[in-house]
Amino acid sequence: MGAPSQHHPSLQWLELSITIDPVAHDALSSFLFDMGCTGIATQGEADECLKAYLPFNENIEEIRERIAPFLKTLQQIFSFDPSPTLSFSKIADQPWHVAWRRFFRPITVTPHLLILPEWEQIPSDASGHVIRMDPGPAFGTGYHETTRLCLEAMEQLTGNRPWTMLDVGTGSGILALYAAMLGADRILAVDIDPEALRWAKRNARLNGLSKAVELASTPVELINSQFSIVCANLMLSEIKRLFTSLLSHTEPGGWLILSGILRDQAGFVSSLADKTHTHCGDISYEGEWACVMIHKPGEKA
Ligand code: SAH
Repeated sequence: MGAPSQHHPSLQWLELSITIDPVAHDALSSFLFDMGCTGIATQGEADECLKAYLPFNENIEEIRERIAPFLKTLQQIFSFDPSPTLSFSKIADQPWHVAWRRFFRPITVTPHLLILPEWEQIPSDASGHVIRMDPGPAFGTGYHETTRLCLEAMEQLTGNRPWTMLDVGTGSGILALYAAMLGADRILAVDIDPEALRWAKRNARLNGLSKAVELASTPVELINSQFSIVCANLMLSEIKRLFTSLLSHTEPGGWLILSGILRDQAGFVSSLADKTHTHCGDISYEGEWACVMIHKPGEKA
């Protein structure tokens, strides 16, 4: 991956269409990402056709030879009827799934953290943490103010004491990955969007953090543990709906970091804290966005 030709405007793409029972889509997507596919699309859970995209500078027969044994192994395990099929077509335009790459550049999100597109070299003068990222269509490149505010809040709240984090709505996985780099002992990252979870998984792997970050589609209400930091960068309506649950997952003495909130909504969110006898510790702002940090009183049991 990362060949310079991928940025060429006249680049052509190879579209791989694989028809296979959706039960195998996750395993197949991981395999295709590892092979260098830059985008993967399925129409829906019941749809058998999975499409994957590669820059058109590769030998089709070689690609076929790499994929066929994997499909054969899946076939041996699952005995699909009909068997999976694989076909190729060349397409001229970038499919939307890969178009973000043109706009995604390295970004210093905090003085201690550089987000680097997967296909860029680490700059020689880079210091601090580097997260390698291919966000795909998932939210969380570090460009958005709310993401930056959450990352900064994490830096502010994590010290020398052991800590754990629940990342609600992980998107690209950016906050969870940073938690791993900042030394969290346990990180659970959830999202309701399977596509986001796929990208978060890929980004965890890119950074060698697959083992450190636990990714799940578990609804927040059904999580049954507590964390020293719970971070949720969601829309206000979701924050309102989940507030009690988010707080219940925050350890006594821990912090709830909330963003996705507009500047003029921050007062309302801190009033939610007042109602639950927690304490709004701090509100930070960037542009029209805000991040509210809520402290849950007490000591960890
Ligand atoms: N944490 C990342 C991404 C935030 S975007 C960042 O800070 O940049 C918000 C994400 O939350 C999306 O991926 C969306 O799918 C997810 N989401 C929305 N509602 C959710 C819910 N109730 N539970 C879990 N994830 C949710």
